[in-house]
Formats: sequence, C-alpha cells, structure tokens
Amino acid sequence: MSSAKYIFVTGGVTSSLGKGIISASLGKLLQARGFRVTIQKFDPYINIDPGTLNPYEHGECYVTEDGAETDLDLGHYERFLDISTSQANNITTGRIYHNVITAERQGKFLGKTVQVVPHITDEIKRNVYLLGETGEYDFIITEIGGCVGDIESLPFIEAVRQVKWEVGQNNFLVIHLTLVPYLKSAGELKTKPTQHSVKQLLEAGIQPDILVCRAEHPLPNDIRKKMALFCNVNINSVIEARDAESIYDVPLLMLKEKLDERVLSKLRMPHKQEPAIEHWKEFLGKLKNPTSETRIGLIGKYVELPDAYKSIIESFTHAGAYNECKVHLKLIHSEEVTAENAQQLLGELDGILVAPGFGDRGIEGKIQTVRFARENGIPFLGICLGMQVAVVEFARNVLGLEGANSTEMNKETPHPVIAMMEDQKNIQEMGGTMRLGTYTCDLRKGSKAAQAYGKNKISERHRHRYEFNNKYLKEFEAAGMLASGINPDTGLVEMVELKDHPWFVGGQFHPELKSRVLNPHPLFIRFIKAALEYKQKKQKD
Ligand code: GLN
Repeated sequence: MSSAKYIFVTGGVTSSLGKGIISASLGKLLQARGFRVTIQKFDPYINIDPGTLNPYEHGECYVTEDGAETDLDLGHYERFLDISTSQANNITTGRIYHNVITAERQGKFLGKTVQVVPHITDEIKRNVYLLGETGEYDFIITEIGGCVGDIESLPFIEAVRQVKWEVGQNNFLVIHLTLVPYLKSAGELKTKPTQHSVKQLLEAGIQPDILVCRAEHPLPNDIRKKMALFCNVNINSVIEARDAESIYDVPLLMLKEKLDERVLSKLRMPHKQEPAIEHWKEFLGKLKNPTSETRIGLIGKYVELPDAYKSIIESFTHAGAYNECKVHLKLIHSEEVTAENAQQLLGELDGILVAPGFGDRGIEGKIQTVRFARENGIPFLGICLGMQVAVVEFARNVLGLEGANSTEMNKETPHPVIAMMEDQKNIQEMGGTMRLGTYTCDLRKGSKAAQAYGKNKISERHRHRYEFNNKYLKEFEAAGMLASGINPDTGLVEMVELKDHPWFVGGQFHPELKSRVLNPHPLFIRFIKAALEYKQKKQKD
C-alpha cells in the first residue's frame, strides 16, 4: 500500500453546500504547507461522464488535459491548487459499473456471482488507490457527490468504510459537511439535521472525524459542544463554515478555523509550520480593492444557469484581480439579440465574449453580437462556438458569402465555412468522441494572440466536433481575418483575429479551463486590458 493519506469529504442534510470548495480549500492549505495534494470526485449518477449532460442539468462540463469530460468541481480543484487533474480524478457510478460489467463479459469473475459488495466496492476502491499508488501525492482528497442517505451513494459510502480498514486509522479521515440552519422564529441555530445525517453515516459504519458546518450565523461554543457530544467528535473538530463573500475567501476562513491543523494532527502529520499563503492573500487584496472597472457582456444561451459558464466567470475574476479591475459581467441571452436591439443591449459594454455552445438555438443572436463588436471596434473574445460564429459572421457580412454557416447549424449551407472533419463523420456514439483535451498550436509572430501569450507556441484544451474549413482560408486572410493560431500537426485553424480592429480574437479551444487563481489566463488578462483601453478611448471621444 502507498504512503498517501486518504481524506474523504461527504455531505449531509442537503446538496449544494459546497463540498467542492471545502475540498479545494483544504487542498490549498495542505499544499501551502508543502504537501503534494490531489483531489478526486465521485459522482453517484449513472452517466459514464457528464459529457452528454445538458448544461442546464449539471452546469459546465470541465475538460482535463487528457481529454476527460468531467464535473465542474474539478475546475475548482485546478483553479485553487494550480494542478492538472485527469480522467482518474472524476469517476461516476456509470463508469464503475461499466468497468465491472466489461470485466464480467471478459470472464474475469468466471464462476462467481457479481455483486455490489465486493465487486462494485472493489472497483471504487481501485479508483481511490489509483492516484495514491502513483507515489506523486501525500494526500488524496476524495469528494463523494450527493448526500449521505441517497440510494445512489450507498456503494461509495460502503467503499469508504472498507478503505479505513485497508489503509489504517492514521492514513484515513472523513470530513462531513453539513448544514446548521438558523430558525428565525426560534432565534436559534439548529443542530438536529446534523445529528441525523451523522446518524446515517454511523448506520453505514462511518464515524466522521471532522464536521464542517455551513451556517449563516457564527456557531457559539454551546452549539459546537452539543454537536461534538451527539456526533462523537472533539469540540475542536467542529468547524464553522460561514457564508463567504467570495469562494476565494474560504481557504482563509478554514485556516482561521484550523481545519488543516485538525486534519494533520488526526493523521499524525507535522503541522507546526504555518502555510505559505501570501500570494493568495495578495490576490484577495487585489480582488477586493480594484482601481478600475469595466463592463463585459457574456453572450450565451444558457445564461439562466451561470454554472454553465463557471470557468469563464472565474477566469474574469482571476484576470480582473490581476489587472486590479472589477469586471462587471453581464450575462445576455443570445436568443434576445437582434440587429434592431443590439445597440440597446450591447452598446454600453467595453468588451464582448461570445460563449461556447452546441446546436442552433440562439445562433443568429450570436451572429448579430459579433457583427456589433466587429463594426464598432469593441474588444471581442470568441470561445469555441464563439469563434466559429465570428467566422460565419465574417463570411456572410464581409466576404459576402450569403447563407454561410457551420454545418452543425445547416447541413445544406452553400458555404460551409465551419465543417466537420472527415474523421468525425463516421462517429456514431455521442459520448467522449469530440476533439477532446490538449492540442498544441503555433501562433503567428506579431499577432494579437502571440502578444497576449508572450510566446509563439501554446497548448490549450478542446471540446468540439466542428472546425474552420481551410478551403476558405485564403479568402478570409485576404479580407483581414487572419488565422493567428495553427495546429502544427493537422494544419487546423485554432485561432483567428481581425487585422483592422483594436482587439478581436477567437479561439477554437477553451482558455477558461486553464485559468488559475494565481496564474490567470493571458487571453483573459489581455481582453480585460483591451476593454479598459476601449473604455478610456470612449470617454475621451
Ligand atoms: N458546437 C461546436 C462544435 O462542436 C462548438 C463546441 C463548443 O463551443 N465547445 O464544434
């Protein structure tokens, strides 16, 4: 067995308490004390991965370097810890069953009845140890999705119970995240829901070591005492997690509550040295004390659920703080934008971002948005579908290619300026078959893209089926839309930009997936700068 320590984070009472942020914050604090940490998430649903889920169901689908389509919590892990996760960091019930059933068909369990215990739980444990056995980590934090008591999460909870006996007490710890509601009429914080959810864990054979309690009010000592008594934990293992102004405050709140110290002392690890968290504090200082502000529009079709654009929104937070600029992000529904109301909806903006997406709903509104940004010299960033739409708009309104489109939107278009690659055409299965994960890209010397990155070779993450159609490349370049980024292996156009525009850049990839708190993405940094320059110029004019 490896020497890694295993920390499990379970949730009780309700979902959406922020297990992902607590896990990422604990990971950050351990990392700041010099430990090597990774975080993994188990999702109890049956889909093999969230790639086929509608963003309305599950928010954004986060893509890792190795091309895994994963839960958006992995984005928090990467942003907080500045690490790269992989397929091994997100496992669903669907994948566990798929692996077991595939093995069964291969005859791996010949003669045996295949059962939840031990076969499913063994497969869950195998996935827990996979990361530990690399020898790369001191801590594996595993977040169990859903709530204790859910039918779907039972096998995961059972596997956690078994892990304790396999790795030993000193290498194993459970943190239970719960809610301590405030009843206005009684004027009191209530501990009963926590007691009940801990009872449920105990029924499954798990004694939590630490309780992290979400609460809108401070937890007084007597409440902490009561929870400690009823839930069999030390009073200093009852940790308060108050609602925070920003998710990025949470590591410091957890530091104040000594969550990391409790974890280390329970796992018999050294904890005398204070975590080196100065850069994080500097970031928070800049985030909270901006010296300028700007208004940027995010035009997409899932705006009712901002989680669908989680990484983009966070990228603006990181790059905004870097620029000491408060970014007022206005989410605008692409279905609402028309040629007639573009001025009214978009006229006040200093920058326009057209979001990624799938399918034709809202596409004409996106095209109108691009046109408005292009014609009015407003800084523009197009991400994936956003770049494709910029290409379609240019084809229609500058090159005069009437009816130009992506074949995703219109198979019969007379001018397929965005089209499917040959190797995508025969694909039948929808799951995991897009162009996924990291690809390298050469940037044109002196281009706006190269200036933003400060280098000529980059690698970025992809998630799409359609591509720029190189048959039209010459025509585009001649008219002023340049291919500023090219995939050196395939010749595919990865970035475009306008020659005669202050800052108009589109990328076929997702830069937002690589923006980190302490390492904001250069395209977002430059986009915000361009928006500030535009605003200044507008004020002078
Ligand atoms: N729907 C487009 C494609 O598949 C763009 C995808 C995206 O924006 N991620 O190519």
